[in-house]
Order: sequence, then structure tokens, then C-alpha cells
Amino acid sequence: MERTLVLIKPDGVERGLIGRIITVFENKGLRIADMKMCKPSKAEAEEHYKEHKGKFFFQELIDYLTEDRIVAMILEGENAIELIRKVNGDKDPLKAEGASIRGKYAIDRTRNLVHASENTENVEREISIWFDCK
Ligand code: ADP
Ligand code: MG
Repeated sequence: MERTLVLIKPDGVERGLIGRIITVFENKGLRIADMKMCKPSKAEAEEHYKEHKGKFFFQELIDYLTEDRIVAMILEGENAIELIRKVNGDKDPLKAEGASIRGKYAIDRTRNLVHASENTENVEREISIWFDCK
């Protein structure tokens, strides 16, 4: 069984989509192993997205992630890492499949509702950020 880290980003909380997003994961058959809400600090947001430091959208991304609370979840299931990235959909709104979470609910390149870890190393790194946060 594989585990991964998912965030419902501030727009998902603000738009009242928490329940609908979680329902997608539960209906898919993924197990919620842990879940919490927290308001990201600048330091936590910058650590989480450190691979994007220096890119033109970095500051906008940090402002976005720190604007409100997020939901952090540890999800478990067969091939959970790859599977959930498919369920979330492509970050490009024009490429996200219609049935994916981003395909159904997001139109913006930055404000795209969800995050999911890309590999096992990031899963553990990101869990340690968000499951220590306030
Ligand atoms: P993903 O969230 O699919 O793993 P990335 O790791 O490439 O995508 O990017 C992290 C986040 O940064 C995206 O989810 C999105 O919020 C934002 N982002 C990525 N690329 C752009 C871009 N070209 N313009 C604006 N925001 C972006
Ligand atoms: Mg990413």
C-alpha cells in the first residue's frame, strides 16, 4: 500500500469545495489515513514549493498558499501517488481532463485547488512540513 500527501489549497476551502474534493478521493477507494487544517506560514509555503523558487510565478504561489487555511491529508491506496495526480488533473487548465478535480472546478493556472506529492521522497518531506504545522 502506498501513501501520499494531498493539500486542498486555500481556494478549495474558500469556495466550499472541501466536501466535494474529499468525496472524489473516497469514491475512488482511497483511504484517508490522517487529516488536518492549518494556515500555512510563509516559511512552510516556501519549503513546500522550494523546487519552484526563482520561477516567475513563485511569489504569486506563496501569496496564494498563505492567504487562508488549507486541508492536509495523508491518503493511502494502490499506486496512490500516480493515481491521485491523475484524479487531481493537469495543472494547465486547458489540459486537465474534464472528469478530474481541476478539470471540473478550476480555471486558473495558479489557483487550482489541490496539490499531490510527485514521488516518495516528496511524500515524506511534505508530510513532515504539514503534519508539524499549526
Ligand atoms: P502540480 O501542482 O501539478 O504539481 P507544479 O509542481 O508544476 O504543478 O506547480 C506547483 C503549483 O504552482 C501549481 O499547482 C500552480 O498552483 C502553480 N503554477 C505552476 N505553474 C504555473 C504557471 N505557469 N503560472 C502560474 N502558476 C503556476
Ligand atoms: Mg508539483
